[in-house]
Amino acid sequence: MSRRRIAVIGAGVVGVSTAYGLARQGHDVILVDARAEPGRGASAGNAAQLSYAYGDAMASPALLRHLPAIALGRDPAFRVTWSLDPHFLIWGVRFLANAGSARWWSNTAHILDLAEVSRREMASLLAEVDLSFSYRMAGKLHLYASAAGLDAMRPTVQRKRERGLAQNLLSRAEATLIEPALEAFEGAVIGAVHTPQDAVGDCAEYCRGLTAHLVRHYGITTLFDHTVTGFARKGRRLHAVQFRDRDALPVDLAVVAAGPQALNLLRDLPEAQAIWPVRGYSLTLPAPAGTPSVSLTDVSRKLAFARIGDRFRVAGLADIAPRGGRFDEARCEALEKTARSVFPHLFNHTSEVCRWSGERPMTPSSRPLIGRSRLTAGLYYNIGHGMLGWTLALGTARRLVDMIAE
Ligand SMILES: Cc1cc2nc3c(=O)[nH]c(=O)nc-3n(C[C@H](O)[C@H](O)[C@H](O)COP(=O)(O)OP(=O)(O)OC[C@H]3O[C@@H](n4cnc5c(N)ncnc54)[C@H](O)[C@@H]3O)c2cc1C
Repeated sequence: MSRRRIAVIGAGVVGVSTAYGLARQGHDVILVDARAEPGRGASAGNAAQLSYAYGDAMASPALLRHLPAIALGRDPAFRVTWSLDPHFLIWGVRFLANAGSARWWSNTAHILDLAEVSRREMASLLAEVDLSFSYRMAGKLHLYASAAGLDAMRPTVQRKRERGLAQNLLSRAEATLIEPALEAFEGAVIGAVHTPQDAVGDCAEYCRGLTAHLVRHYGITTLFDHTVTGFARKGRRLHAVQFRDRDALPVDLAVVAAGPQALNLLRDLPEAQAIWPVRGYSLTLPAPAGTPSVSLTDVSRKLAFARIGDRFRVAGLADIAPRGGRFDEARCEALEKTARSVFPHLFNHTSEVCRWSGERPMTPSSRPLIGRSRLTAGLYYNIGHGMLGWTLALGTARRLVDMIAE
């Protein structure tokens, strides 16, 4: 394909990974972001998990059974703020429609396929680029508090093994042999699902490092601190990207990778209707002695613990609230209180805690949206990565780059 001038809107993990794929194909890439540097949106403080064998869609039979408790505010990990916004109602109905077991597995299988592409793309990126983002094949333990909960995982683990993924059910004693820090875990654990080939890495560092590499080695242009407001067309064909605060940028093609804020571009990209933001929180601290080195997820409390270089991070909570929500101090304190209750010794340096929240750009099916705008020829999108954007970014970038090459 001939060299094209392509704007990528959004320098989160999805936009930066897309810019990488396009630059390698020889295109003239302009990476645009409203923030001052890459990786400042949802990609800034996530749980750092490259969950290649997890991929489980959020709308599931288990979540459906748990819905009354969530609706009544009895699960501290979830908060739903009901709204009559038609967009929210449509999203909610479509979310419920995806929670049946056949749809759940078809969505999960789709995500696992994308995750496999991501895993391969990550391996080739690591072989090609000298990037430092605390990447490690840490492995992952999902901890279960009850025998019934662990047992319910058996069919899913079996299905994943049939797909060639490495995953095992372990007793608490077996899990503690793999991660001795579990000796100090103060929550109930009956056993665990172990995924030895899942990895961990700092997503924001990846965004900054890969962008710097793209500028140095591929000569891409970056345009930060500028907010895109829409797109100019000649007939049906994209002509230029328009900004709030600078002149329009003439381009051949553009890719919207604006994460949860793709919703602000609905006039030009009605496909973004399918996204609703789901807010989560994280705390990052210096890692003291006794920090687990295997990534842990406490399934009943919905907490993810990760060691990232010399820091550790705990992330969790899923708040489905009206658009335009902000950091909520009380929710962040709730996360810290729960995390402290299971690993108190990790919280001795509370003065150095970095508190963060971000919005997961969730689709009802948990499947990312990769495609061409139906309104504007030359406008593409790579959005809606929900809980798994760090894991899936390189895979969806590959799919989008292939689509453009067609
Ligand atoms: C608490 C939490 C934990 C998570 N844990 C994990 C995990 O362990 N593993 C995993 O795989 N995923 C995880 N995720 C999900 C993952 O972080 C997201 O799916 C991913 O970061 C989305 O990336 P993105 O590039 O689409 O969006 P973003 O990172 O938000 O990037 C979008 C960028 O677009 C820019 N932008 C938006 N609109 C405009 C505009 N109009 N003009 C210019 N720029 C614009 C924004 O400034 C932003 O920089 C987690 C998310 C949360 C909140």
